[in-house]
Amino acid sequence: MQQMRFSDRKDFLRTRKILLISAASLLLVLSILLYIVLGKTRGVYYELTEFVMGTRVRVYVAGDKMPSKILAQMAIEEFRRLDQKYDPYRPGSILYKINHSSTWTEVDEETLGLIKAAIGFAKSTEGAFDPALGRIIRLWGFDEFSSKNASELHVPSDYEIERELKRSGYDKIVIDSKNSRVYMKDGAWIDLGGMVKGYALERAYKKIKAVDKNATGFIDAGGDIRIIGPKFGTSCWTIGIKNPRGEGIVDMIYLKEGAVATSGDYERYFIIDGVRYHHIMDPKTGKPARGVWSVTVVAKDAVTADVLSTAGFVLGKDYRFVLLKFPELGGQVFMVLDGGKTVKSEGFSSFEKEK
Ligand code: ADP
Ligand code: MG
Repeated sequence: MQQMRFSDRKDFLRTRKILLISAASLLLVLSILLYIVLGKTRGVYYELTEFVMGTRVRVYVAGDKMPSKILAQMAIEEFRRLDQKYDPYRPGSILYKINHSSTWTEVDEETLGLIKAAIGFAKSTEGAFDPALGRIIRLWGFDEFSSKNASELHVPSDYEIERELKRSGYDKIVIDSKNSRVYMKDGAWIDLGGMVKGYALERAYKKIKAVDKNATGFIDAGGDIRIIGPKFGTSCWTIGIKNPRGEGIVDMIYLKEGAVATSGDYERYFIIDGVRYHHIMDPKTGKPARGVWSVTVVAKDAVTADVLSTAGFVLGKDYRFVLLKFPELGGQVFMVLDGGKTVKSEGFSSFEKEK
């Protein structure tokens, strides 16, 4: 009897051993398969294009640690989040809430930081960049331009412009940092349209880098571009500057890092009696800024590039000032002036050759 029991036990041990070995082999095969599949998605560029924030956002990314597809989706998600949060004309956004309140509105840390940064840029660009032109932008119909038929828009009267100018300007933004709240004087409206794309680019870039610091590629939000990292880890990305009046490009730049943004009068505009009315407003006149067709700015980050391209456009008539002053603010500039002549800041040339 005892012997029988002994052999039973031996059988049991043998079966267990076989089972364990099979399980281990299966695990090994699965790991190898997973490694091959993940390995294949690494280093290969994944492209994802979505329409968000009123523009076409294209993410072109290759992960090193993470699958590229996940990185691209993270970037688009960030754009969606910020679009909902900072579209001033969308009921439910925090800016809508601030703009439609006759008293203080409590804001979160991100919003407070963004508004403070916007005021800082308004000051450093001598008011050319003005984050409180919402009333003027709405008056001209550029608040929901993409969904509106451009032919339905009209030129407001001088009386209307005067009236809305009185309810505009960044000096109307009152901030209470201690209690994290904001108040708009005289019924003025915040509109961060001149920097939110840059901010979304910067945030999306940082999110990607936080999970995969060796990721490379770029994010293109309607021509404003944030480089994630050099092409295949070593080479420059080649970016064309669009001809603002016609086909093709007017210049070519090469970037391995940083960002580039262009503000122009050729994407959101309407024409009446041969005059072009576009969406970048001169805060002094309450009318579309004149003197330049497009302004391109290369900077270390996408917020600076976006803000300075808008401000540079407003200051277009005074282009010599822009070319001298903007490099001090962190942007190298390329401008297509009214008539087609191109000018650039001294440091811009370094981006015109491949390094
Ligand atoms: P785009 O968004 O077409 O790339 P910009 O970056 O130049 O162009 O931003 C234009 C947007 O900025 C406008 O749609 C409006 O919301 C806002 N804006 C217009 N004029 C000004 C200005 N002088 N300062 C700051 N923002 C402005
Ligand atoms: Mg801009």
